[in-house]
Amino acid sequence: MGPKEETKNEEDSLWSKGFFSESVGKDKMKQKMRTFHMRHDEEMNYSCKKCNKKISAHNKDWHDGMCDDCFNNAYFPED
Ligand SMILES: [Zn+2]
Repeated sequence: MGPKEETKNEEDSLWSKGFFSESVGKDKMKQKMRTFHMRHDEEMNYSCKKCNKKISAHNKDWHDGMCDDCFNNAYFPED
């Protein structure tokens, strides 16, 4: 089994577990899932909404549009 099949299975199991709300369009989620498996330094085409630092497509979709530092400060201030 190659990495591509593993990725597909991971997505399928997320769907079957009801991980995603039905109110979110499946097409929209599929689009978002594209960046879920991406590295934090891929497609650095976006800017952190707090400090304007370059961020990846993954951070834009999954880290609330913030760089890792701002995301951690916002959600894990104790660390
Ligand atoms: Zn930032």
